[in-house]
Amino acid sequence: MSPSLSTDKVATNPTLAVLGFKRQIVYHLYFWSFIAVAPLILVQWSHGNYLLSTLLIFFRTNALLVIAFLRFRGTYFLKGRLFPLLAVICAAYSTSINGYAGLYWAYPAATAVFFLLPLREATISNILFVTVMAMVSFLQFPEADFWRITFSLGLTCVFAMVFAWLVGRLQDELTRLATTDPLTGCLNRSQLADILNSQIQMRERYERVSSLILLDLDYFKTINDQWGHLAGDKVLTELTMRIRRRLRESDQLFRIGGEEFMLVLPETRQRDAETLAQELLICISARPFLDDIRVTASASAAEVVQGETWSVWLNRADQSLYQAKSRGRNQVVSAPRTADTSSPMDDGGTDLIADT
Ligand code: GH3
Ligand code: MG
Ligand code: MG
Repeated sequence: MSPSLSTDKVATNPTLAVLGFKRQIVYHLYFWSFIAVAPLILVQWSHGNYLLSTLLIFFRTNALLVIAFLRFRGTYFLKGRLFPLLAVICAAYSTSINGYAGLYWAYPAATAVFFLLPLREATISNILFVTVMAMVSFLQFPEADFWRITFSLGLTCVFAMVFAWLVGRLQDELTRLATTDPLTGCLNRSQLADILNSQIQMRERYERVSSLILLDLDYFKTINDQWGHLAGDKVLTELTMRIRRRLRESDQLFRIGGEEFMLVLPETRQRDAETLAQELLICISARPFLDDIRVTASASAAEVVQGETWSVWLNRADQSLYQAKSRGRNQVVSAPRTADTSSPMDDGGTDLIADT
C-alpha cells in the first residue's frame, strides 16, 4: 500500500530511513483523507450542496496527486501547501451551511496539518485556521459555544504541535546517533558512499575538484597495550579535536575504523590535500597526547579522477596509505591518478572497501 522503503540503500543510510518515515506519515494521512472524504461528497451532493461537493472533490484530487507524486516521482506535490488551504475552506464553508456537522471535521484537519507541513508553516496555517473557524463559529453558534469551539480547537492544535515538534526532534536525534561515532562525534561509515558519490557527481557535472585524505595512527595497538584502552580512547578524542581545528566548514571527517579516519575535502586539489595531510601529521606528532603519549600517523591524499567510482577512488587512497605504512610510517603518500593494480592489497592494505 505505502511507498516501498525497504531497499538496501535505505537500510544502510539513516538519513534516508528517517526521510522514508516522514514520507510514510504524509502518504498515510493523505490516503485516509482520500478515503474519508469520498462518502461526504455523495452526502453533500444528495443534499444539494453542490459547491461543497466540488470543494471536497478538489480536496480529494489534491490527495490523489500527492499520493501519485510521492509514489511515482518521489516528490511532494506543491510541498503539501494545498491541504491546509482546502481544509480551511471546506471546514469553514461546511460549518457555515451545515453547523456542527461541518465543524467536527476541523479537528482532524488541523491535527494533520502539523504532520504534513514543516512546523513553522503548519503553525502559521493553523493560527489562520483557528481564526477563520472562530469567526464562523461566532456568526453561527451561541456565544458560549463559540468560546468552547475556539479553545478546544486551539488546544487540539497546541497538543498536535508539541507532538509533531517532539517527533521531529526524535527523528533528528536518531539520525545523529545513527550517522556519528559516539566516541569522537565524527561521521561513521553509514553515509560514506553517498557523500563520496555526491563529490563524484560534482566532478562529473560541474568539473569541480574534490580530494580525500586517509589517516591512520601508527602502532596504535602499542599505545593501548602500554597506556591502557581508556588512554587510547582519549587520544582518539583529542586527535579528532586537533584535526577539526584544521578543517573548513565544508570538509567532512569520518572515523572509518578503530584508529582510521577519512577527510572529504570539496574544492580541494591533490596538492592542497597533500599539504593539509602533512600539516595534520605535524600537528599530531608535534605535541604529546595526555601530556606524555607520543603518537604519529600515516596518511594518503587522492583527488577524484573523472569517470571513477567512489570505491576505486577510495581504493587508490587506501593503496597509498599502505605504501606510507610500508615506507616507514609518519609520512604522506600522494595517490597516483590511476590505481596501482600490482599493489599487494591482500597483504596488509587497510581493507576499506570490503565491508563498506
Ligand atoms: P599500524 O601502524 O600498522 O597502523 O599499526 P596499528 O597498531 O595502529 O594497527 P592495528 O590495525 O594493528 O591495530 C589497531 C588498534 O587500534 C587495535 C585496537 O586495539 C585499536 N583500536 C581500535 N579501535 C579502538 C578504540 O575505539 N579505542 C581504542 N583505545 N583503541 C582502539
Ligand atoms: Mg594504525
Ligand atoms: Mg588501522
